[in-house]
Amino acid sequence: MAVPKRRTSKKAKRQRRTHFKLNVPGMVRCPECGELKRSHRVCKSCGTYKGEEVVDPS
Ligand SMILES: [Zn+2]
Repeated sequence: MAVPKRRTSKKAKRQRRTHFKLNVPGMVRCPECGELKRSHRVCKSCGTYKGEEVVDPS
């Protein structure tokens, strides 16, 4: 089995991790209530999509 020849330095480790980003981007503000919601999804807090479509008012 392959074994790393030397320990990964702090610098190499940190440089590699600069590419780790938060997943689930594409958060937008709901035009109705201003809450953060995922784009192309029904707003969780007010239940609207594309302005009027009321799916789950609560
Ligand atoms: Zn909303």
